[in-house]
Amino acid sequence: MLTIPVGRVMEAAAVIAVITLISLRLKFLDRKGLAASVIVGFLVYAFGGRIYFAALFLFFIVSSVATVYRVRRVRLDYVEKSWERGWRNVAANGLTASLTAVISSFYASCNPMVLASYLGAIGTSFADTLATEIGLLSPRNPRLITSMKGTQPGTPGAVSTYGYMGSILALTALTPFPILCGRQDLIPILFISGLIGVTADSLLGATIQAQYRCNSCGKIVETQTHCGVGTEHVKGLKIIDTHMVNLVSTVIGALAAALFTLLLQKI
Ligand SMILES: [Zn+2]
Repeated sequence: MLTIPVGRVMEAAAVIAVITLISLRLKFLDRKGLAASVIVGFLVYAFGGRIYFAALFLFFIVSSVATVYRVRRVRLDYVEKSWERGWRNVAANGLTASLTAVISSFYASCNPMVLASYLGAIGTSFADTLATEIGLLSPRNPRLITSMKGTQPGTPGAVSTYGYMGSILALTALTPFPILCGRQDLIPILFISGLIGVTADSLLGATIQAQYRCNSCGKIVETQTHCGVGTEHVKGLKIIDTHMVNLVSTVIGALAAALFTLLLQKI
């Protein structure tokens, strides 16, 4: 049955209000991004509870800090992304997690199927974010996941050893949460589903995601503008952008986790 204790709703509102004020000062997100984060955070806290929210909060903090650090260290002419995260990014990374958190309120929040799905979704987003941020620090150019040919950093579907190390790091950071739920048996599932999700992200990025060529620098990019000018569509479906790919990948991560948990229960 769906029950949300009033106390938890008030606790969620208070904690998120404080985090919002701090985020506003640190400019981690633009206004719309922050509004989207508040909605995702509130749904996850009020429906999923403290453990679910703590996992989301860790993802938020680590990815914000990683982005700020990378932007300071690496001059980015090839990724035209502000280090402030937009609302589309937040929605793409938060929708599946919010949905599984809402579903968790129909069960016990440590119900293994629901918890695994939540971790599969968050794990995919976290692994993808750190893969991007740490991958960009790589001294060598990444390879395209489909052809394994060398490519420019920032190309959709580009993978590197640094990137996968970032993914492992992100998933390792999430291991305390199944333990807090007394479900350490879900740790292997967290790793497997997170890696499946992040690999799906790269595969979708390399195949169906829209890619454009910058009219100024000639690089292959995922945005319709680059270097302050328009870009030309070269491949992929125009309606599939990076956010759509992120969203679909979190669904794949969550479903993979649910499936593996089901298999684990049959053993
Ligand atoms: Zn350009």
